[in-house]
Amino acid sequence: MVLFAVLFIVLPATRAQAQTTLTYSKFMDDVSAHKVKTVTLQSTGPASGTLTDGKAYTTVIPSQAGESFLDGLRASGVAVTAQSSGISFGTQMLSWLILLLPIFLIGYLWWRLSRRGGMGMQGAFGVGRSKAKVFDEERPKTTFADVAGYEGAKQEIREVVDFLQHPGRYERAGAMAPRGILMVGPPGTGKTLLARAVAGEAAVPFFSVTGSSFVEMFVGVGAARVRDLFEEARKRAPAIIFLDEVDAIGQRRGGMGVMVSNDEREQTLNQLLAEMDGFDPSAGIVVLAATNRPEVLDPALMRPGRFDRQVVIPLPTQPERRAILEVHCRGKQLGGDVDLDVTARGTPGFSGADLANLVNEAAIHAVRDERDVLTALDFDEARDRIILGRREGSNVLIPAEKHAVAVHEAGHALVAAYSDRADPIAKVTILPAGQALGATEQLPLVERHLFGEDTLEDTLSVLLGGRAGELVVLGQGSTGASNDLAKATDLATRMVREFGLSPEVGPVGYPLGGSAFLGTGGLEFSSRPFAEQTQALIDTEVARLLREAEHRAIEVLTDHRDVLDQLAERLLSEETVDGSIVYRLAGRPVPEPVTGTGLTQSVAGAESAVPFNGARGG
Ligand code: ADP
Ligand code: ZN
Repeated sequence: MVLFAVLFIVLPATRAQAQTTLTYSKFMDDVSAHKVKTVTLQSTGPASGTLTDGKAYTTVIPSQAGESFLDGLRASGVAVTAQSSGISFGTQMLSWLILLLPIFLIGYLWWRLSRRGGMGMQGAFGVGRSKAKVFDEERPKTTFADVAGYEGAKQEIREVVDFLQHPGRYERAGAMAPRGILMVGPPGTGKTLLARAVAGEAAVPFFSVTGSSFVEMFVGVGAARVRDLFEEARKRAPAIIFLDEVDAIGQRRGGMGVMVSNDEREQTLNQLLAEMDGFDPSAGIVVLAATNRPEVLDPALMRPGRFDRQVVIPLPTQPERRAILEVHCRGKQLGGDVDLDVTARGTPGFSGADLANLVNEAAIHAVRDERDVLTALDFDEARDRIILGRREGSNVLIPAEKHAVAVHEAGHALVAAYSDRADPIAKVTILPAGQALGATEQLPLVERHLFGEDTLEDTLSVLLGGRAGELVVLGQGSTGASNDLAKATDLATRMVREFGLSPEVGPVGYPLGGSAFLGTGGLEFSSRPFAEQTQALIDTEVARLLREAEHRAIEVLTDHRDVLDQLAERLLSEETVDGSIVYRLAGRPVPEPVTGTGLTQSVAGAESAVPFNGARGG
């Protein structure tokens, strides 16, 4: 660009040097006055030459000037030169430049880019072999004592520790030690922790890498990285290689029905398979891998000799939750009122990571109150915060809305209080938190794994109790019940479709599918496995279940209208009402192990999870 600018300015300027431009008349005058020495005529009209005083000039000869003009020139003794091309050398140069420069520029840029790209390729391949490592190597201090619960999984994995410590023993006995163990379970259940604990117990190097970091834009990089990882591990054997999110590379290789095949991933997977086959069983390398989507893994990975063992790491059970809480409460001062059993009871569906987060949130809450000792209240707040989102300190609702919410929550609470199988009420509140305007929290007495039809029906009634309360007291429904309705519909649909609890549809099961660990899949992309009429029947049955549940809820609330009003009143004035008070107002005995403090409530209630999880719902 600079070159252009310079040429444009300089070239004409040099040509114009010491030139005078003459009008035609002036030129003719000068000719008559014998002041013109030479003239160079161009075919198009412009003319130039020198005057007798040596000055250069330019002018334009009109085309009308004919023969007589030339005669005139000759008569006054001007040396006439005729030129065919009207373009001077400079002009020609310039036009060529203008034509060619962009081409040169583009060519140059192309060359630069391709060179850079080439370097990128080189660099990327180089990564596989040299500097930038995708894996971390460390010697963790974690031990099995840091992993609470999961005794079965630990037992299975303990053999690996034994093998890493005494590889010779296995060789002598002719036993094949496990080469790979695949840990399967929901996120945050401590799979990484367990792998680190194995390395820590065996005191061997721990190479950890996430599956996704193998997959790069350039084909071949992932494979090179896998090769490098195993090479490095072999040098340091005995060692543990931990592949997190192995599903990122280990997905089923392309086949029929796979629309996008991923060359890079397949190459990486092939390399991984080759490496796992290739290493000497006595070399002392064990590959631990973790995934939460075992169903997408390529079957070749699961073949004996590769990940021949699968260890399922499920969500922790109640005693395990307690143990995990204990691990994370180490080194923290707990107040006398903290009962980890209650906290464990009130956190069904929490993973190890959730529980660690819970303890941390509780500690943060204590710090905010300028205390060093964690109290039951801290745990309570932390749990609410995790389940419901941040609780607003004050109520932003306008009075009419507040009343509607109070009636709604009182409806949930009373339907639960009057039904025999609903989980006991722990706390009712009309303080908004996160998306919810209020909440009725239920605390299951025991962690249940099997739910009877009666329990499910009661659950439906409780879910619809909020809306029923609004209908009974205010005479109309509101938008506040949408979340309840969605949950109730979901539950009723599963009762009909999956659990065979509808006499009309009968004992058939069409599970909604989806990952066993990440909840039900929800959307059905493919066609449904049953006829149109069956769908219509399912819809009718779902509607019937919901209608019956709503009917029961309305009946209960109409029968106890006075209690409903009292509870709503109390909620309006106090914002949060304890479960025991609900039972006292209702004139019902408080179901046993509910603590008076309302300390830890379960996920159930108004804005609550469905009281069983997909993995074991069947
Ligand atoms: P995953 O790899 O399964 O997603 P992690 O191993 O990363 O889960 O676990 C995350 C965190 O959760 C751990 O660092 C630990 O603090 C906590 N945690 C999970 N399970 C346990 C457990 N069984 N005992 C103690 N802490 C646990
Ligand atoms: Zn509700």
